[in-house]
Parts: sequence; C-alpha cells; structure tokens
Amino acid sequence: MSVDYQSLAVEGVQALSPYQPGKPIEELAREFGLNPDEIIKLASNENPLGPSEKAMAAARKALEESCLYPDGNGFALKQALASRFGVAMNQITLGNGSNDVLEVIARCFAGPNSEVVFSQYAFAVYPLVAQAIGAKGVSVPAKAWGHDLDAMADAVNERTKLVFVANPNNPTGTVHIADAIEAFLQRIPEQVLVVLDEAYCEYLTGKAFPDGVRLLERFPNLVVCRTFSKAWGLAAMRVGYAFSSPAIADVLNRVRQPFNVNSIALAAAAAVLEDEDYLNRSREVNEAGLRQLAEGFEKIGVPFIPSVGNFIAVEVGQQAAEVYQALLSRGVIVRPVAGYGMPNHLRVSVGLAEENQRFLDALSDALRAARDGH
Ligand SMILES: *Cc1c(COP(=O)(O)O)cnc(C)c1O
Repeated sequence: MSVDYQSLAVEGVQALSPYQPGKPIEELAREFGLNPDEIIKLASNENPLGPSEKAMAAARKALEESCLYPDGNGFALKQALASRFGVAMNQITLGNGSNDVLEVIARCFAGPNSEVVFSQYAFAVYPLVAQAIGAKGVSVPAKAWGHDLDAMADAVNERTKLVFVANPNNPTGTVHIADAIEAFLQRIPEQVLVVLDEAYCEYLTGKAFPDGVRLLERFPNLVVCRTFSKAWGLAAMRVGYAFSSPAIADVLNRVRQPFNVNSIALAAAAAVLEDEDYLNRSREVNEAGLRQLAEGFEKIGVPFIPSVGNFIAVEVGQQAAEVYQALLSRGVIVRPVAGYGMPNHLRVSVGLAEENQRFLDALSDALRAARDGH
C-alpha cells in the first residue's frame, strides 16, 4: 500500500490552506485572452508609482555581485534603519518581507499548546502562522470592522504567548490612535509579546497616530514590524523588519535563515530610505487616490469602510464574487475578501488617478450588469 504523505505532515500543517495572493496580471491575461498591457492590478496594495529610481540603480549595481553571498547581518541596511528611526542596530531583525518576520516571531515565541490572539478581519497571515506551529489561534470579534482592543486584552490568558495588532489593519483600513494603543499595551502582561504590525504606517500623517518605535522603551514586550513592500514600493524585493528590545532581536536572529534577505534587496531597501521625494510622492498619490475612490463610491452609491491605508474595502453586496469576475473580464484585478469573512466586500488598492477612474467605471458597469442579472 502506498503511503499517504499528506497524513505525515504535522497536525497544524495538515489543516492549513495556503495564503491566497492577488491574481497576477499574466495569469489574468492567459485566462481571459487579454493584453497584459491593458490590465490593471489593484489587488495587493502595491505602490502604483513603480519602484524608486534610486532603489533600482542600487539594485542593478548589486546584481553585478550576484556570485557572492549577501551580508547575512545586513549591516548597511540596519545602519540606515537605525539612523532614520533612532534605534540601535541590535534592536533590528530583517526578514524576507515582514511575512517572514511574523513567522519567525511565532516560531520563536509561540508553540504547540500556546495561544495567539488576533482580531477578526485582521491580516490573514496571523492565523496561518499560528496554525502552522500548532498554536491555537484566538480570533477576537471586531468592533466596527476594527480591532476591539479591550476584548483582545480580555482574551489574553496564561497560555497566551503572542498578540498581533495590525495598525492600520488590512483589509479593513481601520486604525487606532496612539492613546488607544498605549492603553492596550498597559493591559498586556509583560511576558506576552505584542506584535504591532505597522505595514502601512508611512501613510499616516498626524500626531494622533502611534509610532510604535517611540513605545519600545516603555513596553519591553513590544515588537514593531514594518515593510518595504507598500509605501516604499519594493514588494517584489521582499524586505521587512522588526524593531524590538535587543533580547528579543537576539532570539529572532537565531531562528531566521542566515541569508533571508538577498543582496539586491538589501541594496534597494537601503537606497530607497534616502529617497524622501519618492516617499512624499507615494503619500500624495495615495491621499488623492483615497479621496477619488471615496467620492466615486459615494457617486455610485456603494458603502465602503473609510481607510487610512493604501486600499479600501467596498461593500458590493451578495454578488461580490460575480462583481469580482465582471471586473476581471474588464481587465481590472481587485481582491475578494470572502476568505476574511467579508463575503460582501471587495478590497481595491489605491492606484494612479487614471487607474482609479478605470476601476470606478468598471465597477459601476459591473454592478449594473449584476443588478440586471446578466
Ligand atoms: C502587506 C502586509 C504585510 C507585509 O508584507 P511583506 O510584503 O511580507 O512585507 C504585513 N502586514 C500587513 C498587515 C500587510 O498588509
């Protein structure tokens, strides 16, 4: 009799379903026979500006040294991060995207029989990493699409090792102000790690919003995760990082793969940190796009969740799957979020003005077609 290899996988992995990424442009072109140049992808919260020229120049230069292993300690990038954000180099952990960092944190600090707390409608990677290591994921019901921080603090017990907080949250775009995050941190016991995922923090302007870095000194159990994939425009390079106490960083660095960030990515990330103009343009395009989309939704008459990220969840009703398909056939890729328990919503990333307009026109069309039943 042949062996059922799937049943040999460890328990958490057996029940795992893989993370569902946004549909790639090439895949849609193949499936619908469309010209890839006429497809717009607003599905993965990528930066619509294209990558920074400064980052690309550094990456091209690094490419020439591809026969050498990368600097496993990422010295130059850590130095650039340390000086920009005012942390010590031994407080930094680099990852192959912040997804990598999130997974390493879970592997280091949670484990079988432990509990990992996160919010309903929060980033899909939290339940995945918890399940993969055999920990129990505890999903706390959301409040107005955002994290119910009080209920999350209440959910912490003696088995809890980790709490994930996405601020702002993806896919809902909700955010908590600094006071709320601080009050929450006060309530969490010191032996429970709080992972504050700030993947979209660069888009936040205004003093009321928390800067996780400034909380590190007062809360030694805090880990702040960030990424170069969104506002910094380097999603394909896969670079993320965590700021924490040196003790926590030391643990994370034992478990991460020694060369988890390649040298081309390291060079691009260090270079883009110097490209203030790129970051400013990212913010401006995003702010204008959020406004354009909100106004467009109001005009069409579809409700949406007000967002501070680079995406918006729009409520298109029970026919969301149908609307998603209709958008695809019009060459527009957005993100279904039924897997997040939001079957009536679609998430659209903020694009350039003309992309947002094309999406709004296609949405209006698709909704009309769905209403008319064809
Ligand atoms: C996009 C995103 C990330 C990071 O993704 P990487 O590309 O792996 O750095 C992390 N957290 C949230 C909430 C995100 O939306």
